[in-house]
Amino acid sequence: MADVFAPEKRAEVMSRIRGRDTGPELALRSMLHRLGYRFTVNGPKNKSLPGKPDIVLPKYRTVIFVHGCFWHGHEHCPAFRIPGSRTEWWTAKISGNRARDVRNEKALLVMGWHVVTIWECALKTASAREWLTRRIPGFLS
Ligand SMILES: [Zn+2]
Repeated sequence: MADVFAPEKRAEVMSRIRGRDTGPELALRSMLHRLGYRFTVNGPKNKSLPGKPDIVLPKYRTVIFVHGCFWHGHEHCPAFRIPGSRTEWWTAKISGNRARDVRNEKALLVMGWHVVTIWECALKTASAREWLTRRIPGFLS
């Protein structure tokens, strides 16, 4: 039977189904764990803070968002390219997501949280993960 969803729609449906426990996010969690950081992924703050951060490190008053390069519009990233069809719709959709990210980040900063955004492309390859592992202590100090 043919797929009832067009490819873009399929991608969107799949990303909703996969939800929070995506491969890149799990990779980041195990990196943080190995580095000895304590964090929550399902705590009350993960649910109540603006933007529902993927990872909360209460001791550092820091939240981490793991952003999908496509859905959050990672500029200059090979994983982010507006599809050739329905271009205007996609452009509006992705800029809406980006505007919401900016609003959430501002709200968190006002509340005294540090905000770290990690793009999925930084978690995809072993060399990118190594680079990020070295940078994390700098984010969290
Ligand atoms: Zn990217």
